[in-house]
Amino acid sequence: MTKAEIKSTDILIIGTGIAGLVAAIEASKHYNVTLITKTILKESNTYYAQGGIAAAISKQDSPKKHYEDTLNAGHGHCNKKAVELLTKNASKAIQHLLNNGVQFNQKNNELHLSKEGAHQEARILNDKDRTGKSIIHALLQKIRSIKNISIKENTFTHSLIVDKNGCHGAVLISNNAPLICHASHTILATGGSGQIFKYTSNPEIATGDGLALAKKAGCTLTDCEFIQFHPTTFPLNNSTSVFLLSETLRGEGATLINQDNIPIMDSIHPLRSLAPRDIVSKEVYRQLSLNQNIFLDCRSIPHIQETFPNIFQTLKKNNIDLQTSPCPITPAAHYFMGGVKTNLHGKTNIDHLYAIGEVACTGVHGANRLASNSLLEGVVFALNTISDIRNKTSPSHTLPKHIPLPDKQTKQQLSQTFKNNIQEIMWKNCGIIREKNQVINAQKELNTLIKQTHTNTCNIFDLECHNLLMVGSEICKAILKRPISLGSHQIRRNAT
Ligand SMILES: Cc1cc2nc3c(=O)[nH]c(=O)nc-3n(C[C@H](O)[C@H](O)[C@H](O)COP(=O)(O)OP(=O)(O)OC[C@H]3O[C@@H](n4cnc5c(N)ncnc54)[C@H](O)[C@@H]3O)c2cc1C
Repeated sequence: MTKAEIKSTDILIIGTGIAGLVAAIEASKHYNVTLITKTILKESNTYYAQGGIAAAISKQDSPKKHYEDTLNAGHGHCNKKAVELLTKNASKAIQHLLNNGVQFNQKNNELHLSKEGAHQEARILNDKDRTGKSIIHALLQKIRSIKNISIKENTFTHSLIVDKNGCHGAVLISNNAPLICHASHTILATGGSGQIFKYTSNPEIATGDGLALAKKAGCTLTDCEFIQFHPTTFPLNNSTSVFLLSETLRGEGATLINQDNIPIMDSIHPLRSLAPRDIVSKEVYRQLSLNQNIFLDCRSIPHIQETFPNIFQTLKKNNIDLQTSPCPITPAAHYFMGGVKTNLHGKTNIDHLYAIGEVACTGVHGANRLASNSLLEGVVFALNTISDIRNKTSPSHTLPKHIPLPDKQTKQQLSQTFKNNIQEIMWKNCGIIREKNQVINAQKELNTLIKQTHTNTCNIFDLECHNLLMVGSEICKAILKRPISLGSHQIRRNAT
């Protein structure tokens, strides 16, 4: 029988993106914290964020305007209380990041603000086009200086330990063996699920583990059909990998054109190329399906090489000079608006289990997230969650007697082709345009595949495939439960 070492902590935080790091710093003021991540510390969606973080801090702006923009982008599906909390606390969140060493671009000794799609005002703080990287570097530097945060890299969460008294921590896999982390409170900050789709801006780690863990533990998942597809990604080397072209490019004047140099958004929305993401994605997708080639034309952006060094250099390596040539684009899965249902303090329906950041769903993004609200969400709800935990007396709960542990002898059983198959099924049937019959068939295919997976293993790849299938199935269920076109996707009537 497999045995496991037991480690105890006040707070177990799973994930080292912006939500997990902010929560760890705040929690460490009062508790011992164990912070784990499945690969290396920096690897997260946060690290790749380019555009920036939204906050209404200029004189002409206000939290009310930011609130209105968020609701408009969310197509009437937002939780207004969550949006109010987000927008009112944005300035405090920025101050929190600055206090912890994060630096943003400045102009004339003031924080520089950029504009992005569907924002009435310029309110995006960034560090050129590598905002996520800067945030992660600064917060990690801070974290490393805090003694009561114990960091564990390459530690995968296999399952949550739950009984009638709530969550008691998690079963982890480290060095190919199980490890029990007994925690008074457990916080899921596991990020997104983009890897469920063939084309995604998300890195390899984004396999929806947190959603699957929460679902298996008995949490409610909500709004799982709302997936944001980013309209402007650049396909790399004829493979399925894509590189994101930040919305701030359009904020600085880039436009969407077809092969005849004709702007494609002018007749679609008054904000033209700066229309909300869902509207732009659908139009790009529609035109590509008509065999048009669509491009992002950045030629009018002055000093693009200095303002967007990361994007400029990446495209240069791929033989595109943004100063002289429009760049071919395709939409790709980008952000998961649904997730583990929580209240405004990150609380799930299981005691002592919290979820924050992209894995959580407070309803703040509704059916379509406003650009640059996600990094902000990570900070605001992490801080709110820790304040909730502070207001509670910590339970002295004991571990359940029997905790199922994965077998460390089991070898990898699934292949990359198996994973590609899942991604292909989801992209074809549950992408921007969906048909009910296709979704039903996709669900059947996923159900067949999940029978070939198993969770009694320490093999991470096999566990990730299982998680992807669970999330895919939840997406299908959600689409079929509410088969209407809303926000990020469109339901097409079945072809007859
Ligand atoms: C290319 C790109 C550009 C973006 N640009 C912007 C932007 O400009 N502005 C904006 O607001 N948003 C942007 N977003 C979205 C935003 O980056 C994410 O939504 C946000 O960073 C999510 O933060 P998070 O802390 O919730 O999760 P993440 O940053 O994804 O972190 C998740 C963490 O959980 C860990 N983890 C996952 N599963 C497990 C497991 N089973 N066991 C242990 N650890 C696990 C991961 O290793 C990782 O450390 C962008 C996203 C991408 C992909």
